[in-house]
Amino acid sequence: MPPGVDPTVPNVARMYDYYLGGRDNYEADRDAAERILTLMPQARRWARDNRAFLGRTVRFLAESGVRQFIDIGTGLPTQENVHQVAQRVHPDARVVYVDNDAVVVAHGRALLARNGASIVIEGDMHRPRDILGHPELRALIDLGEPVAVLLLAIVHFVPDLAQARRILGELAAGLAPGSYLVVSHATPGKVGREVVAEGREVYSAAASGGITPRSPKELAALFDGLDLIGPGLTPVNHWAPDAPPYTGEVEAGFLGAVARV
Ligand code: SAH
Repeated sequence: MPPGVDPTVPNVARMYDYYLGGRDNYEADRDAAERILTLMPQARRWARDNRAFLGRTVRFLAESGVRQFIDIGTGLPTQENVHQVAQRVHPDARVVYVDNDAVVVAHGRALLARNGASIVIEGDMHRPRDILGHPELRALIDLGEPVAVLLLAIVHFVPDLAQARRILGELAAGLAPGSYLVVSHATPGKVGREVVAEGREVYSAAASGGITPRSPKELAALFDGLDLIGPGLTPVNHWAPDAPPYTGEVEAGFLGAVARV
C-alpha cells in the first residue's frame, strides 16, 4: 500500500472499482459501495455504461485522427483502458493518465505505463494548467497538435458549477484547434431527493469526499460556449458519433458529451 493511504476510509476510486467488479478495494470501500447499491442497484450498470462510453469515444476520436490522449481521473486499472483502445487504432498513440489518488497512481504505474507511450502522473483536476504544464506530460504530448482530454465520471466531484466551468475552460484554452474534451457526469434522473441525499452522504464520508449529480439543464450550462459534436449531451449509452439528439426521458446514471475545441 502506498504511504499515506488509509484503507479504513472509503475512497471514490476504489468504490468505482468495486462497482466494476474489480479487486483493488478494501472492506471500507465495499461497505460504502454496497450502501450505494442498496440505494441505487443500477449503479453497477451505470459504471459499465460509462466504461463503454469511454471505449466508443476514444475509438471514434482515434479514428478521427487523434493520437494524443490525456485521461484526467483515470481510476484504477481495469479492462479497455484508454491506451489499449487508442493503440488498437494507432499503435503509436500516446496517453497520459492523471489522478490525484496515490493508490491509482501506484497501480497505474505498474499496469498502465507501457513502453513510454503511456505514463501516469499525479495531478489535480482543479489545477488544469499544472496538469498541462507537467514536465512529464510535455515530454510525451505535443500541445501544438490535437489532443483528446477525458474527464469521465470526475467532474461531479466539483461541487461548484462555476469552478467546473473554469476547469473545462482552462483545459480548452490550453489545447490546439482540433482537440476534444470528453466528459461524463452523474445525473439524478427521477431518483427521489431523499435517496440522492443519502447517496451524497455516503460519498461525503469518502476520502476525496462529496459528489454533486447534475440535471441535464445544469450540465447544458457546463458546456455553454463549447461546440458539442454528434448527438450533443446524451445518456452515455446513447452516445455514438452519428446518433440523433436524445429526446427521451433522462434516467439516473451518466450523461456524456464530446466537445470540439
Ligand atoms: N475516469 C474513469 C474513472 C472514474 S472514477 C472512468 O470514468 O471509468 C473517478 C476518478 O477520479 C478516481 O480515480 C479519483 O481518484 C479521481 N479523482 C477524483 N477527484 C480528482 C481530482 N480532483 N483530480 C484528479 N483525479 C481525481
